[in-house]
Amino acid sequence: MPTITKSTCCYCGVGCGVLIESQDERITGIKGDPDHPANYGRLCSKGLSLPLTVASDVGRAFYPEMRANRDAPRLRVDWDTAMDTVAQRFTEIVRKHGPDAVAFYVSGQLLTEDYYVFNKLAKGLIATNNIDTNSRLCMSSAVTGYKLAFGADGPPCCYDDLEYAKTVIFAGSNMAYAHPVLFRRLEAAKAKDPSIRWIVIDPRRTDTAAMADLHLAIEPGTDVALFNGMLHHLIWEGLVDQAYIDSNTDGYTALKNLVREYTPRMAADLCGIQEKDLIQAAEWFGFSPAALSLYCMGLNQSSHGTDKNLALINLHLATGQIGRPGAGPFSLTGQPNAMGGREVGGMATMLAAHRDIGNPAHRAEVEELWGSATLSDRPGLPAVDMFDALLDGRIKAVWIVCTNPVHSMPDIGKIRAALNSAEFVVVQEAYTQTDTVPYADVLLPASSWGEKTGTATNSERRISRVRQAINAPGEAKADWWIANQIGRRIQHLLRPELRDLFPFTSPEMVFDEHRRLTVGRDLDIAGLSYSVLETQGPQQWPFPAGESGGQTRRYTDGKFLTPTGRAQFHATQYQPVAEPTNARYPFHLLTGRLRDQWHGMSRSGRVAAAFSHAPEATLTMHPVDAERRGLQAGSLVTITSKRAHVVLPLQVSDEMQSGTVFAAMHWNAQFLNCGGINEVSSSAVDRRSFQPELKHAAVRVEAADLP
Ligand code: SF4
Repeated sequence: MPTITKSTCCYCGVGCGVLIESQDERITGIKGDPDHPANYGRLCSKGLSLPLTVASDVGRAFYPEMRANRDAPRLRVDWDTAMDTVAQRFTEIVRKHGPDAVAFYVSGQLLTEDYYVFNKLAKGLIATNNIDTNSRLCMSSAVTGYKLAFGADGPPCCYDDLEYAKTVIFAGSNMAYAHPVLFRRLEAAKAKDPSIRWIVIDPRRTDTAAMADLHLAIEPGTDVALFNGMLHHLIWEGLVDQAYIDSNTDGYTALKNLVREYTPRMAADLCGIQEKDLIQAAEWFGFSPAALSLYCMGLNQSSHGTDKNLALINLHLATGQIGRPGAGPFSLTGQPNAMGGREVGGMATMLAAHRDIGNPAHRAEVEELWGSATLSDRPGLPAVDMFDALLDGRIKAVWIVCTNPVHSMPDIGKIRAALNSAEFVVVQEAYTQTDTVPYADVLLPASSWGEKTGTATNSERRISRVRQAINAPGEAKADWWIANQIGRRIQHLLRPELRDLFPFTSPEMVFDEHRRLTVGRDLDIAGLSYSVLETQGPQQWPFPAGESGGQTRRYTDGKFLTPTGRAQFHATQYQPVAEPTNARYPFHLLTGRLRDQWHGMSRSGRVAAAFSHAPEATLTMHPVDAERRGLQAGSLVTITSKRAHVVLPLQVSDEMQSGTVFAAMHWNAQFLNCGGINEVSSSAVDRRSFQPELKHAAVRVEAADLP
């Protein structure tokens, strides 16, 4: 008889509940959990194919491996040898060059407990804030936007708002592909109530845009101009909620003065859309009884991602469209546990439980609970800066966990050079075929989905249990366990005088310490434990002690977490993309996801059926642009930026605007003769959120010069 294990899908930030069927140490099937409030039994193609990703033994990391030097092959070693070596090398480098000479680059794929132990290892033991995550590439602009506007990170909304909303804005989100189960919920709501309006803001006619009542195909990067133009119309037509503004916000006058210049005509011209469409969007939003904005990478992955978030939040605050059913700005996290990483402070720019590195009182609170001597007040290096520092020698050693920067970071050539120049590289991975594994001096085999235990937080702040159904193959271990074991060794070498920072013997023990750190904070989960999750099912934060459940929506009383208790408007000017097109590089390159693939395909690339939707990497171009250049569909073209070039087959489609081209982010060196489209991407970042502009690069496209 198969065993059924309740768990959570490990792909996207929807965080669907699953029922895993397993027998004889094999996962034999999967179903949606009908009781999970994210999906009520639904699963998308990625979730349904999860058993196929663990069914094969091929391509898994089974044993620790090490190499004597960069020219030597990696050879199998036992765990003690691998862990002693990592501990000794990290300790030597810290003693010789200081704590900021080492860095950790982790992942939104990790569970909260994994993240917690790594964050404690870096900040609590080594005293460096050089721990950042691939979530930096995904949602850090949303974090910064929430903190500046509301005084705290985290979305105000919940998934039930999808059913209450009467106007839905999709801003830079191809939700039909990236968050498919939530999109099904929206489709069902619209089928019941055809008066619901969908407005999609996207330069490309995605499958989501194709279903919109209004598609605003703006010029790449012009979102702030659009939102300011919409606000101008709302103000001058008397569609703002003055009572809400007066009672609950600061900064309105400055914003009103700024958007005065963004007339609908001027804003529409900047965006390359019709003025009447901008006005239509503003009026649907302004007259709506409940307007919900769903936004994702199209806003966040930008050199002005924070501004884009703030300009959209301005619309909600000015109209009082927040804090009630169906209304609010709702960022959708890409990864399954990017939220959990934020909660434990697993980023270079934050401390545990939404505390700030630069705040001495916050550091003291964490030091007291950890029993750690001193936390560093030096800001850590976020992802792009971290690899720059590795390249120029400020960082000597990096430990990469559950992520593949040689595919996912912008300007991949620079990442390769950085890893080649590093003194010591540790890669902790479940799969051996990622583009990053070849750079490992030590490879630590990690367990994967279906094999590990812990918790993950989805886009609506809901914490779900992730449960183990089978044992990991070979000698692979849970990520938290590896960090805990090596942390003990480093503490013995470096800080033996401190009390034991790594006493953990189970993920539950880690979770309990994490929740103690949240007491009194905005994400207080003192009332939540593994046993509560066991009996009551997945719960949203905050969930303080004494409460019987988590909080569905935030800011329902108009009280915010800023020093004044009022939400903050931010007057944001439109700024163009960091790398404008020109005669030499005339195309805007957009990147995005495919329906059935995930990230760098380490997992989804193992599923044959996932290739039926998109069998190969392509570059998509508008037919007029292809004709002008004499390029044929199916022919090979070279895409060149200032940094590198990539060769792909051409696809011709009028889903693109003339002047823009699109390539999916997933394809990597397993499928191409390069690391993927991020070879040409720009590493320009938003200087407040440090998120890179992965959604745009200036490129030229020519027929490939084949031998
Ligand atoms: Fe998994 Fe996301 Fe699909 Fe749900 S929507 S099954 S979480 S990939």
